[in-house]
Amino acid sequence: MNYLKKLLFYLNPVARLGNVHYSYLFPLIGTTSVAFILQLYINLILKDPSAIGLYAIGLFVALIIYFSFRDGILGGILATLVTVLYYFFLIYSLDYHGKQLTAGIDTTFVLGLIYLFLAVTIGWLKQAIDKSIEREADGKAHLQTIIQQLPVGVLITDSKGNITQANGQADTILGLTTPMGFQVGSKNLVPSIYKDKLTNPSKTPLLQVLQTGKPILRKEYVLLRQDGKKLQIQINAAPIHNTFGKTIAAALIINDVTVQKEIEQRKDDFVNMASHELKTPITSIKLFLDVLSREVTQYKNPKANHILDSINEQTKKLQQLVNDLLDVSRLQTGKMSIRKERFRLDTFMQELIEQLKNVSPTQHIIFVKKSRVFVFADKFRLYQVLTNIINNAMKYSSGKGDIIVKLEKQKEKVQISVQDFGIGIEQNQQKRIFDRLYQVSDDVSKTFPGFGMGLYIVKEIIRRHRGKIWVKSTINKGSTFFISLPTISKQ
Ligand code: ADP
Repeated sequence: MNYLKKLLFYLNPVARLGNVHYSYLFPLIGTTSVAFILQLYINLILKDPSAIGLYAIGLFVALIIYFSFRDGILGGILATLVTVLYYFFLIYSLDYHGKQLTAGIDTTFVLGLIYLFLAVTIGWLKQAIDKSIEREADGKAHLQTIIQQLPVGVLITDSKGNITQANGQADTILGLTTPMGFQVGSKNLVPSIYKDKLTNPSKTPLLQVLQTGKPILRKEYVLLRQDGKKLQIQINAAPIHNTFGKTIAAALIINDVTVQKEIEQRKDDFVNMASHELKTPITSIKLFLDVLSREVTQYKNPKANHILDSINEQTKKLQQLVNDLLDVSRLQTGKMSIRKERFRLDTFMQELIEQLKNVSPTQHIIFVKKSRVFVFADKFRLYQVLTNIINNAMKYSSGKGDIIVKLEKQKEKVQISVQDFGIGIEQNQQKRIFDRLYQVSDDVSKTFPGFGMGLYIVKEIIRRHRGKIWVKSTINKGSTFFISLPTISKQ
């Protein structure tokens, strides 16, 4: 049975597509054998060589096509050569003379040329197909090796969501040998938790990607492995399209971020503890400073007063820094409380801007408002948001140009904008400045002191008010920060 299979494989030209090891002996021996058997048939059964004419042409055309498709150009040419020689032998055995002989030779010559053309064309096509199949297979092999060596886990499914490939790292992370052909979405390969909830198999990223055709980026899960270990993983999933845009597969990249998360957690815990510990002594220093200031004022010593003012200023900065650190910690642990009340935003902003007007001696803050706006929000937190944005506007314009603050009422919303004419922010940095501890690191921005906490806190406060914050900016021309908040009616 096995031999029969092997023989069929050897004879089947389609099964050999992509195989560039061509045989030359087989076309030679094959065509000669057929010619030999035909000759035996003529001699022993037909007994008349002229009766075979057209059948011979058909038979040998088939042979030439077969060999050129099986063994390429040379295979086809060899089959043609044997055929032509056999045709000459037939003419010889028919004992032609004169005109008949010339006609026979001419026909054989013309047929030979046609056969040769057929052999070369089909053979060339076959070799081209083989080469492209080989190239594709080589590319696949390269890709396989790269995928296997990647330090991240990779799972690939076909268009129906059946796993077709998984690398070693995927098995290590998942804690099992990934079963090939497993239908994602049928059940969880490994149970996982997303945002404190056990994930539903039908929401598995690979399936979502196949259904929507859109990639999923940096989603974080907790993997509950069979061996009891919990792993923090970050995944990216993307559909794979063919050249016609059809989704033919999907790929999932799994990154084990457990260690990274642990370090981050320890760092957050440290920042939280340190800022709590710092808060009390700083508050005391501030109190004692106030008392001391009152005492010193009595003695009318300008030098001492000046020194005390400087200490006061630095202590305020320190207090602000500790407060920011505490806020970041609160946000990280979900402990920032928002106490909302109903108030008039326009008057609230008017007062706030009055207070900030004296901060910079060279810059004016122009407040443009048209209507009365009521909001239901945390006053203290909104104060924090607005001072932060306006202080940034002053800081990053180095005291040059005015700051324009606008309040515009829109449908069920209010839009606040703060415009400066300062250093501006590059397009590719504009989203990132709202990330935790993110600071633009170009040569100009680097010269400004800061910790990159402000805008992160601002964004989170706005988010907790169901609002939005974004920026439009042109480098060297200035920036406008926009905040949109829901409004309430007067009552
Ligand atoms: P910090 O000012 O302490 O560095 P922020 O979170 O307030 O931190 O701001 C993050 C970054 O955004 C800043 O480092 C700065 O590069 C950029 N940035 C913020 N506001 C402006 C502005 N008005 N103009 C230019 N750059 C700004």
